[in-house]
Amino acid sequence: MNMFCFQCQETAGCKGCTRVGVCGKSAQTAGLQDLLIYVTKGLSDVATKLRKAGKTVGTDVNHLVTENLFITITNANFDDEKSQHVL
Ligand code: SF4
Repeated sequence: MNMFCFQCQETAGCKGCTRVGVCGKSAQTAGLQDLLIYVTKGLSDVATKLRKAGKTVGTDVNHLVTENLFITITNANFDDEKSQHVL
């Protein structure tokens, strides 16, 4: 599996980890975390637009966004199951 991760300041050569993470992160975990952030950005965008339109969006959405961001915090969680729980 190919890898490219530049999720933190420890990245190899200040360019990106391409074989395995300097932190030990695998290509699969890096990919899942990138995907989780992508999906979470979409979720946040939709929730923001709905609220601007006067619609109610439950606080569970806020909690999910917070949890997703925490899951991907740098080098703190390499649990692929957690990264996939909203995908
Ligand atoms: S999170 Fe790990 S794999 Fe990603 S850039 Fe940082 S050190 Fe490299």
